[in-house]
Amino acid sequence: MASEKTYPEIRDAVARLCARFPGEYWRTLDAEKAYPSEFVQALTDAGYLSILIPEAFGGSGMPLGAACAVLEEIQRSGGNAGACHAQMYTMGTLLRHGSKEQKKRYLPRIADGSLRLQAFGVTEPTSGTDTSRIRTFAVRDGDDYVVNGQKVWISRTEHSDLMILLVRTTPREDCAKHTDGMSVLLVEMREAVDKGLTIRPIDTMMNHATTELFFDDLRVPAQNLIGQEGEGFRCILDGMNAERILIAAECIGDARWFTGKSTRYACEREVFGRAIGENQGIQFPVARAHIQTEAAALMVQHAADLYDAGKPAGAEANMAKLLASEAAWAAAEQCVQTHGGYGFAAEYDIERKFRETRLYQVAPISTNLILSFIATRELGMPRSF
Ligand SMILES: Cc1cc2nc3c(=O)[nH]c(=O)nc-3n(C[C@H](O)[C@H](O)[C@H](O)COP(=O)(O)OP(=O)(O)OC[C@H]3O[C@@H](n4cnc5c(N)ncnc54)[C@H](O)[C@@H]3O)c2cc1C
Repeated sequence: MASEKTYPEIRDAVARLCARFPGEYWRTLDAEKAYPSEFVQALTDAGYLSILIPEAFGGSGMPLGAACAVLEEIQRSGGNAGACHAQMYTMGTLLRHGSKEQKKRYLPRIADGSLRLQAFGVTEPTSGTDTSRIRTFAVRDGDDYVVNGQKVWISRTEHSDLMILLVRTTPREDCAKHTDGMSVLLVEMREAVDKGLTIRPIDTMMNHATTELFFDDLRVPAQNLIGQEGEGFRCILDGMNAERILIAAECIGDARWFTGKSTRYACEREVFGRAIGENQGIQFPVARAHIQTEAAALMVQHAADLYDAGKPAGAEANMAKLLASEAAWAAAEQCVQTHGGYGFAAEYDIERKFRETRLYQVAPISTNLILSFIATRELGMPRSF
């Protein structure tokens, strides 16, 4: 199968690690809406969360394709990498745009696990997908920036020591381009909580530790500005391609988990005196989801290869995310159908994974926005907004 051929040693080792965290582990956390601290610690200890950090800063300096293999295997084992995947791509903003001092100060501690960089604060209630309309504003005051505003859907903030935060430093109307005038601040969460930053958890249909953030005169040292003031959008943009490719790899893992479950059950379950998998009404949709998954996996691999070669990968990253999230959903849908009533029983883990994988048609970017990007940027059709 397509991407399964890459990094076999990493895949085997991750699968062995994940076997220590079976469905019951995830099910219990899901029911309690609790964070998988032991799992994240095990991944950190094994060095997988620092796989993209260069060796000079204590990581293993591997390509994005290796990180894709890690995340795919976690999902394929029935786990949920959503609890910790952000560290892989948020770290890139610091690595590519941070100063020498910032990299020396933070990256080795992120690599050894003593600091967690799990939070990425972009989305706001009033701006939605239109990032240029964010309103959270930072004003320079002496050696600090003073931040006011609000973010929504910012995940893992309660389980992270650091957050990459996108703010406006110049009003949108005063900028030549709408994407100018934004800046990236690295927020030390322990310094910030209750001193201008309030975190409020959002209850969601799956266990994702996502939150709302309220900034009320939060002071962030100016030395924590990443890149140039006003250049923040460009600083996070290349990380967004990495994010889309990595999440697409997770969706491939989900799709393979669902199809594996469907196939096994279709062969075992007997109704009307024969295995339900003998019926083409069951076989064909499972086969179709498998075909979709293999095609999407090739696109994920292609996007990761381009990214690793330092070539433009925007269109491919977006196409990979769209195809993989839809393949996962097709496999999920058929898995429920194949299992009949048992697809709804928590102990089968299908309904949990079904809820979890649905997210990726909306976040980190929704399907419509990908279609719009491809229609206008790749195919040259007129822009509607
Ligand atoms: C569980 C969860 C975790 C998240 N974690 C994070 C995080 O850690 N950090 C972070 O910054 N964000 C995070 N997000 C936010 C996520 O990236 C956004 O929800 C997503 O980008 C969609 O934005 P929105 O919710 O504001 O939808 P909106 O922008 O309000 O859009 C709503 C719907 O309208 C459609 N739409 C909007 N404009 C158009 C158009 N012009 N043409 C066609 N369709 C259109 C969209 O496709 C979407 O389907 C998370 C979201 C969720 C649900």
